[in-house]
Amino acid sequence: MRQAALIYSDDLATHVLSDEHPMRPIRLSYMHELASAAGFLDAPNSRTVAPRPASDEELTLAHSAEYVEAVKQLGSSDGLGIAARYGFGPGDNPIYPGIFGAQALAAGSAMVAAEQIAGDVDVAFAPAGGLHHAMPGRASGFCVFNDPVMVIRSLAAKGLRVAYVDIDCHHGDGVQHAFYDTDAVLTISLHESGQFLFPGTGFTNETGAGAGDGFSANLPLAPYTGDEDYARAFDAIVPPLVRAFEPDVLVTQLGIDTHMLDPITHLRLTAQGFAGTVAKLGALAGDSRKGESCKWIALGGGGYDLGAVARGWAMAYAVMSEQDIPDRIPESFNSPGDSTRNQREFADPLPPEPEEAVRNQISAFADRSIEQLQALLFPVFGIS
Ligand SMILES: [Zn+2]
Repeated sequence: MRQAALIYSDDLATHVLSDEHPMRPIRLSYMHELASAAGFLDAPNSRTVAPRPASDEELTLAHSAEYVEAVKQLGSSDGLGIAARYGFGPGDNPIYPGIFGAQALAAGSAMVAAEQIAGDVDVAFAPAGGLHHAMPGRASGFCVFNDPVMVIRSLAAKGLRVAYVDIDCHHGDGVQHAFYDTDAVLTISLHESGQFLFPGTGFTNETGAGAGDGFSANLPLAPYTGDEDYARAFDAIVPPLVRAFEPDVLVTQLGIDTHMLDPITHLRLTAQGFAGTVAKLGALAGDSRKGESCKWIALGGGGYDLGAVARGWAMAYAVMSEQDIPDRIPESFNSPGDSTRNQREFADPLPPEPEEAVRNQISAFADRSIEQLQALLFPVFGIS
């Protein structure tokens, strides 16, 4: 059985970006309460490990020292003057009290996951991590510090080969950017096409540059793509590439804004569809090095329907720690009058199907992305 660690404390879930902001860290405490109520955290092969703040040295694995210093200054009186230069301001990346401490702790939770897998832990899940849009000198898309980049650079510094698979609804642009010109890290992102969604990148022809040509894979999908087309696209691209790459560590970004109830995106996955993808990632970690297993770091990411986040990530942790998921949500999790805590079952009822012509367009969109990627990338890895 896999040894699993959940990197969590309530300190990760207390900050508020702004009253109207869709990113609500409280979602992490809902996920933790649900996983706990369902008994997932009591299994003998599960441990919960508290996060610590990332050090400045760790933050500069992904960011310029100037940017790290600027985020520290944001709370001070001259902070406002420099905010816009680094991507902060009203809108996506607001300034709020304690921003540096809250974000350094989220990034540190991902670093703790990396520490855990250096020991006897096989899979470590840091749901506060996965902030994949942040750039070296700029906040972007609700992301201040790019913890996936920090984690991958720390592993690469030990000579480890890393495959990064990003299933957030948005393109993992910040992570792709960091490793675009190297063949030491394979990045794969499945997402709603940049034609329709932030950040507007992640097309099939973004395959890497120089030595990294062929080591950056992007699988864009049409709005309203559901479980079936999603699974077909994933199966066609992700397992062959990861197995051909033979990573020492699999790092996954598990944004759950692909969910059909997500208020800011347009894919149509169910929680069980999402958990099925996580199970496939677990299977890949189990045999991606010529049948040998590799370690697995799982990070969070987007997810803006709080009930879907709680269910999806609790299910993901059950999958990682190889536990059965019951049908019913434990009564103790629910609370009358709280729309987030009135969930009956872990699985979602199937969403209504779009009409046939639309369904065909969605499938054809996925087919095109699959064919283009196979033509562009499979020859690089000798996959026939
Ligand atoms: Zn997202």
